[in-house]
Amino acid sequence: MALAALQVKRVFFEPGALDYQLGKEMYSRLKSEGQEICFLKSHNRVTSIPGKTPRESFFQGKSTLVVGVRKTLDFATCKPSAHYQLPLVTGCQGICEYCYLNTQLGKKPYTRVYINIDEILAQAGKYIQERQPEKTVFEAAATSDPIPAEPYSGALAKAIDFFALQEYGYLKFVSKFPNIDSLLDLDHRGHTRIRFSINTERIIQTHEHRTPGLQERIKALSRLMEHGYPGGVIIAPVILEGDWKKEYSDMLNKLSDELKGNNRDIHFEVISHRFTRRARNTILEVFPDTSLPMAEDESRTYKYGQFGYGKYVYNKELLQEMSILFTEMIGRHFPEAKIDYII
Ligand code: SF4
Repeated sequence: MALAALQVKRVFFEPGALDYQLGKEMYSRLKSEGQEICFLKSHNRVTSIPGKTPRESFFQGKSTLVVGVRKTLDFATCKPSAHYQLPLVTGCQGICEYCYLNTQLGKKPYTRVYINIDEILAQAGKYIQERQPEKTVFEAAATSDPIPAEPYSGALAKAIDFFALQEYGYLKFVSKFPNIDSLLDLDHRGHTRIRFSINTERIIQTHEHRTPGLQERIKALSRLMEHGYPGGVIIAPVILEGDWKKEYSDMLNKLSDELKGNNRDIHFEVISHRFTRRARNTILEVFPDTSLPMAEDESRTYKYGQFGYGKYVYNKELLQEMSILFTEMIGRHFPEAKIDYII
């Protein structure tokens, strides 16, 4: 079933958002859809999202949209996959149990859309200029899935148009959502790479709530690639349990069937499931009945991280098995693909 673009119960506008034409347009559209809109008194102070328990707070946050003005125009770096983050949206309405954002966006993880897109892109232009003739790559999904808000804000379309004209600037982002119609006919000139994040049907059904199914995601990727976009697939997190080899093989068969004859410029990133103790605690607060495999058992190795806290990754033997299998399957189905990494 296709998901509506935005699944929100409440909308807040930050001060100043209505000074922008896009802010006014979003206001009218959301109002005409029957959304109740409140105005915040100050930036970054979203205090009236309800929620008495961690679980309730989380779900209420996930159904809240904030329309704001991006004040800070210093972009965070985004190594190693890009040079800078492009801050168009933060947050995501999807409810994936293992989402990286679950430990990053506080107890009430609302989605915030920035409407001063021209200022944000002008800043990107400055970063590009500073580094030229080196290429500069921007990641628009470092702290969000930016697609669900796209039909409202048009931010990605503007960014794609902008990067098409930048000799030394490139854009990339990743999504799980298929609302990409407005991007199809843009003159992107190959400067934007759009990846889709996929997993097996079973894992999507079990752990990726309020997100579209596998077929819808790969169909969206296929349509984008038919329109000449460089593409990509992130397979994450790979969960090595049950009949995982067959399930991932079925998944890649489906991907290959859908992309047939249309998969020349495609990259793959394959990321095995891992967790920190902190993430596990957060997940268990919100999803106490989760079946995610997070036991510290013999299937796992503790790996120390750069900043003092470590994570549990699969042991060496399992990771090797996974790496061999994915290298073989991707090589067979997509001989021209580039595998960025399998970790
Ligand atoms: Fe997180 Fe992506 Fe799921 Fe959104 S779709 S909750 S960003 S993992």
